[in-house]
Amino acid sequence: MKIGILGGGQLGRMLIQEALKYDDQFYTLDPASDAPCHNISYFTQGNFNDFETVLNFGKDKDVVTIEIEHVNADALAELEKQGVKVVPNSKIIKTIQQKILQKEFYKTHNIPSPDFQVVWNRDEEITMPLPFVQKMNTGGYDGKGVQLIKNEIDLQNLWQEASVIESLVDIDKELSVIVARNENGETKTFPVTEMVADPKLNLLDFNICPVFLSEDIQKQIDSITTKFLEVVNSPGLFAIELFLDQEGKIWVNETAPRLHNSGHQSQEGNANSQFEQMYRVVKNLPLADTDSLTFSGMLNLVGAEGFEGKVIYEGMDDVLKMPKTYVHLYGKTETKPGRKMGHINVLADSKEELMEKLVKVKEMVRVIA
Ligand code: ADP
Repeated sequence: MKIGILGGGQLGRMLIQEALKYDDQFYTLDPASDAPCHNISYFTQGNFNDFETVLNFGKDKDVVTIEIEHVNADALAELEKQGVKVVPNSKIIKTIQQKILQKEFYKTHNIPSPDFQVVWNRDEEITMPLPFVQKMNTGGYDGKGVQLIKNEIDLQNLWQEASVIESLVDIDKELSVIVARNENGETKTFPVTEMVADPKLNLLDFNICPVFLSEDIQKQIDSITTKFLEVVNSPGLFAIELFLDQEGKIWVNETAPRLHNSGHQSQEGNANSQFEQMYRVVKNLPLADTDSLTFSGMLNLVGAEGFEGKVIYEGMDDVLKMPKTYVHLYGKTETKPGRKMGHINVLADSKEELMEKLVKVKEMVRVIA
């Protein structure tokens, strides 16, 4: 099959890396000439937000998928009309692209997500009690496009653009669950992972699996994933980001219609990785088993503050000496503060050992220039 991927970043790269054991041809589209996929696929340099570019890229492919959701969904709809298979379909990509539509989707389907108000401009009356979180309707990514409004003074900083304001959840844990559905309607869910964020950069930091949850909490999550997979009406792999609040209630924060940073530990930690699963979704093959094999965790290799230029992974030799520790680099030559350059997966026999190892690896390695 000729498989086209919109986006040539690390998610696409790791999908192709996994799928090369099968017999397909991969094509990628990305604006950056040195994108992580540029030298491991048939690469087109171009803008995946441009209608004509996406149409031209997709029209001779058997299936087109995405590794980033900020793409021209109208072009994908046109490709569908022309008979190209698009995974996930353009409709769900469009819904998820816009926070307002995404929040309404949860409401319509009784999927618990924090209360919200849609705000189109600054003059609108805000009925949501303070404090709350404002999220831009479009354009948000990795924590940008989200701001906390704590008090009356902060209200002056409200963004002018269309946005959602959402009640603040008293978060106990941030969890993620990756689900998949193929065209035949078969579904599979990965074990829940827990994210521990770096408060300064707002990028995913540690991500661990499995997470021990009470029966009641696991039930709430199961009911969300079952519901989502029932109503999503599209083949695809989706990462559902969840909040567990201090009262033990689960809320859906947001969903990504694609491979996700919170699933990287599945590369060595689970019977099959999210990348294997995505490949099977794209090809409408029987879905893979997702069991976690042991305690696993991931830490992102993020460009250190104050360094910009040709990347150096300081301390990597020491990391490579560690048992059950796996380095994944994304083929990016230039580092800058906060840029995701790679990740390291770690396996362990207990949660304590896992956390110890993750902290140790984090202290060992630095992404500098
Ligand atoms: P992004 O898509 O940029 O990752 P998110 O919607 O996930 O944005 O928000 C980023 C972070 O902000 C979350 O991981 C969480 O820590 C915090 N956050 C978002 N929404 C809420 C909320 N309703 N209540 C409390 N914290 C929130």
